[in-house]
Amino acid sequence: MNKGFADIIIPVAVGGSFTYGIPVDLLGTVRRGSLVTVPFRQSSDTIGLVINTHDTPPSGMSFREIISCLPEEASVNEKLVEFIMWVSDYYMAYPGEVMKAAIPPGSELPGNKVKRRRKQESGSDEVLTLPARLNALQTDVSGAIRNLFKEQEVVLLHGVTSSGKTEIYIHHMQEQLAAGRQVLYMLPEIALTTQIIERLRKHFGSSIGVFHSRLTPSARREVWKKVSDGTLRAVLGVRSSLFLPFRDLGLIIIDEEHDSSYKQYDPAPRYHARDAAMILARIHGGKTLLGSATPSLESYHNATVGRYGLVELMTRYGEVMMPEMIIADTRSTQKSRKGVTHFTPRLLKAIGEALDNEEQVILFQNRRGFSPFIMCPDCGWVPQCTNCSVSYTYHKSIGRMICHYCGKSVRLPAECPECGSTSLTTKGFGTEKIEEEIKIMFPSARVARMDQDTTRRRNAASEILTDFAAGETDILIGTQMISKGLDFERLTVVGVLDADNMMHFPDFRAFERSFQLMAQVSGRAGRRTRRGKVIIQTADPAHMVLRQVLKNDYQAMCRYQLEERSLFGYPPFVRIIRIVIRHRDLEELNISASRLAESLKKHLGSKVLGPEFPLVRQVQKWFIKTIMIKIDNSLSPSRVKEVIRREIDNEMKRTRQGILRIHADVDPQ
Ligand code: ADP
Ligand code: ZN
Ligand code: ZN
Repeated sequence: MNKGFADIIIPVAVGGSFTYGIPVDLLGTVRRGSLVTVPFRQSSDTIGLVINTHDTPPSGMSFREIISCLPEEASVNEKLVEFIMWVSDYYMAYPGEVMKAAIPPGSELPGNKVKRRRKQESGSDEVLTLPARLNALQTDVSGAIRNLFKEQEVVLLHGVTSSGKTEIYIHHMQEQLAAGRQVLYMLPEIALTTQIIERLRKHFGSSIGVFHSRLTPSARREVWKKVSDGTLRAVLGVRSSLFLPFRDLGLIIIDEEHDSSYKQYDPAPRYHARDAAMILARIHGGKTLLGSATPSLESYHNATVGRYGLVELMTRYGEVMMPEMIIADTRSTQKSRKGVTHFTPRLLKAIGEALDNEEQVILFQNRRGFSPFIMCPDCGWVPQCTNCSVSYTYHKSIGRMICHYCGKSVRLPAECPECGSTSLTTKGFGTEKIEEEIKIMFPSARVARMDQDTTRRRNAASEILTDFAAGETDILIGTQMISKGLDFERLTVVGVLDADNMMHFPDFRAFERSFQLMAQVSGRAGRRTRRGKVIIQTADPAHMVLRQVLKNDYQAMCRYQLEERSLFGYPPFVRIIRIVIRHRDLEELNISASRLAESLKKHLGSKVLGPEFPLVRQVQKWFIKTIMIKIDNSLSPSRVKEVIRREIDNEMKRTRQGILRIHADVDPQ
């Protein structure tokens, strides 16, 4: 049999694959997983991925032929093709959109030549140090994980902050490498890779590589190739590393598995790396180890009903005590000191003491910029982005107001355009304002700030963290970037500046998220000898979530929230698909969104909710409406997706003014 035809996916947003002829000289070379160049639309050398070869000519007379086939080393293996197709199907993305994430970095560039295979490096004889000896508890836990893996594909390690989870991961990585298999260690954020890679390199030397989008294209390409040819046995990476061409993955570790950064929002594919990882591991006949001090309710639920194995480690390594948790009521401060600063006396005192003892402080505020909005005290005017329905955030250091949705920035007006008042005031506070105030109150302290604004440069984040770890900085102020995973010897005080804005966010996950953020950032404090201190500022000290944070009572939070989720029909008891509809014309949007919702309701009934406006109803001039579909046990997810695909297609085909955009977000976070 000749197999003269190939089904090929193209890295653009179109459905399905295209059938091309295989020219005689490439017969036998082109296979599932090959990267080829093909004529597509006007272009004569579009990169395509072969997902299938066969003998059936496309219907109709004419077909086009493959132009060339990239060298074998640039091809993707069968397992990765299978994974790409699963992601495309499950997350309702076009296969070409998923393929873009998986092909060797840079190969989508026209005319790119793939270099010839270099001589394979022979096994390295690096001498590597002291995996740490696990203590008795860690040894038990590690054994329990090993046992559970005999029957389970996925195990959740729930271990309090600083219980030594990372050391346990290292041991399991070592076992896999000794067995000749590959390991992927995933982290939710690039900033975290710096610290962890230092720890891992000690044990794994050059057999471990790092992969994320901040690397140069050539560095990414290098990792891609070495994973593909097997020289790289272990990878530490963020979510995109799932699409590396692993040959034989024995284990995927998902550290901080609860973190919402594992979900990709934009662009497609909108996949959840934790959930997709389990499928990838299964394709390889490998296992997935989830770890967190504050597991997602989804994972914890799955573990308690027996779908995953569960192991718990509830004491810190070396018997170090969990930090002392203190609530500081901001209402009394505001009354007595007329809100001069955003610091309560309690927090100030703790910071002062830490500095006196040459210890370090982390201050957490989940908002960047100086203040989240500006207001005219005389007429109430609030400057809003002209592209989006949100107020501008004021960034004092550059004297500008910036829209955090579209990035548009404008100068701060000298006076109110409505009433001419010149006393425009700032409302609320972000990390920049905290930095300004702390520098006034502790003028001799060395202060650094870590948020999106200070970490745009390639190595900025790792420099900030390295300085802090080396004791060059006394106080580190930051957003959620500093809440997770980091391990600093001399950090004893953590301040949460404003617990309220997290807890009162209108989302069904707000309480879970607030608990996780506060417990995680608290977990940075006092990880070695001295007991840490955490001061949480709030105007709502009796709040249930705060009580749970105070007692470090994950179980209580979990029980309560799961009951609510079950009662009101939210994940993990139902699956959610959110359909996002966008149009620049509000009228057109309303018509399309309502019509789509109606036709979905015809097939799926009361499980279809909406359409409604999201919190921010206009972004970059596009108006947005969403439809939510709750999939419970009475519906088959694949049938629901079929209906959604069809109805979206039908809606797109209708005539209208202007451009309509619709996408589905499966398991939105
Ligand atoms: P987690 O990942 O649970 O937050 P880590 O693995 O970072 O915890 O461990 C917390 C601290 O305790 C780290 O400084 C780590 O080096 C140390 N540690 C943990 N386990 C051991 C061990 N078995 N031997 C020596 N040090 C350990
Ligand atoms: Zn005014
Ligand atoms: Zn905007």
